[in-house]
This record gives sequence, C-alpha cells and structure tokens, in this order.
Amino acid sequence: MKLKLIESREKQRTVKKKFNFRGFSFFSGENVSMICEPSKENTGIVFYCKGVRIPAIAENIKLVDVHTTALTKRGVDILAIEHLMAAIWGLGIDNLIIRLSSNVVPAQSGSAEEFTKALLKAEIVEQEETRQVVVFDESTTITQPEFKSRFAKFEPFDKFDIKCFVPFLSPIGEHTVFFNGSAKSFVRDVCWARTFLRSPIDINDLTKWNGIRSVFKVLPEDPKKSPIVTFTERGFLTPLKKEDEPAKHKLLDLIGDLALVGYRLRVKLTVNEPGHKFTHLVAKKIRSSVVAKKNDSQKKIS
Ligand SMILES: [Zn+2]
Repeated sequence: MKLKLIESREKQRTVKKKFNFRGFSFFSGENVSMICEPSKENTGIVFYCKGVRIPAIAENIKLVDVHTTALTKRGVDILAIEHLMAAIWGLGIDNLIIRLSSNVVPAQSGSAEEFTKALLKAEIVEQEETRQVVVFDESTTITQPEFKSRFAKFEPFDKFDIKCFVPFLSPIGEHTVFFNGSAKSFVRDVCWARTFLRSPIDINDLTKWNGIRSVFKVLPEDPKKSPIVTFTERGFLTPLKKEDEPAKHKLLDLIGDLALVGYRLRVKLTVNEPGHKFTHLVAKKIRSSVVAKKNDSQKKIS
C-alpha cells in the first residue's frame, strides 16, 4: 500500500472542559456513564476501563458477532464504541481521555447526536502541535473475499471525502451518501442518523423481535417504541428522520471505524456496501501499513 505520514499545518485538537455523560447500555439496559477529559498532544483517543488503558486503535479491535465495534486490551473488552468514535473523529478531535464506568459506552439513542452535542458543549480547542496525516501516493482498493461487491477505494486527494453506496432491500432501499470531512458536514449530514434493524420483523409474530431483545435488553416490548429504527417488509414502524437515515447510519459507523486508524486521512474514499466486519478489516489494513511506514522511517533516522 503506497501511503505515508506527513506533517500537516493543521493543529491537533482536544476539548477544553471535562464532562460526565450518562446513558444506558443497549446490551444490559443498565444505566452507565463515562467521563471525557482533555488530553495532551500526540496521546490520541484513549479509553480507560477497570484500570486498563485501551487506546482507540485498530490493533485493539475485538471481533464480535453483534453489529458493533469492540476493543480489547489485557482481558478487558469495551463495547459499542463506534458512534462515540464517529463523533470524535467527525468533529476533528485528536486527543481525548474517556473513562468508562462499565465495559460499554453509554448511549442515549442509537445515533451520535448526543455525543456530538456534549463534545461541542465541552468546547473543542486547538493545541500547540500540528497533526500528522496519512496521504496516499496511489490508488488502493481493499476488498472482502466473502462479499464480491464490497470494496473501499482510496484515491490520492488533498482533503477528505467519502462517497458511500448502501444497498438494502425495501423499505430501506438503495442510497448513495456523502461526507466531506468537515465538522459542519458531520453535524448536518451524519450525527443524527439512528441505528436500525438489519432485516424486517413481522408485527404479527414478534418471535424474531424478542430474540433481538434478548441480546439488546434495552429494547421495549413494542417495536414501534424502539430507540432503533424498526421495520417490516411493508414499511417502517418507527418514522425516519430522513429517507436515507439508515444509509447515513452506515456512513456514521464507517467514520467511527475509520477513526481507529489513529490518524486523519487525506483521501477520496469510495465505499460499496459498508459493514462493521469489512470496515474493521479496512481500518486494520490502513493502520498496519501506516505503523510499518512509521517504524521504517524511525529505523532510518536512528
Ligand atoms: Zn451503528
């Protein structure tokens, strides 16, 4: 993969104020919380859970069966990090400490809207040192062998731009969604999009819904009152905020997973059929290539 890390003129960023964020666990339904704190330059995004320091980087991804992104370090797993990571990355934050009260990031909805509001309220501030960014010298395409039509194409570009094609059966349908890398675009186009069921349920036979509820205990008996978007083959049970909300949520998940590269990218990225399993693979490949380059250049210097 032909890419390199370069020194940019952009300053690194953190938040000005420490804040407490309370919510629930989608898995247990329990109330959980986290404290987010400013962090020094070049420290990155770091979680602390049960006394273990877990940097938010692709090497620490733990592959799990549920549709979420989990990290693991020294036997401690943390779940559901992707919507928070998307908000951190989408708002241009480089350095942050997140202290979790349990092994799951607290949620208030199935989107990144509340994280975005809390981070903006804590005031995002520039730091002294500049950012290193990843640039591509030539186009690279990453594929997933099990899914023939799934790909992520990285093309050299002096900014950051994502175009993402998300095909689903009716009622979700096919959508192409965009993110231009700016905080404004993230707030306007992405942060509010809620997660959704990946396949329809039958309103007259809730066996499948109850199976989903056994994994995500926060979900209510009535799927129409769900904080995640639910639908049958005939239509949506929870009204959508916008027609392409599910596709925008896939874009949100993609941003959250890409954040695990640990550096910002300057690239034109086209993704076909994103999904966590694939975007974990993408983040790991880019990250390992960047780390190899970094180690290589350090060897040359010493
Ligand atoms: Zn999600």
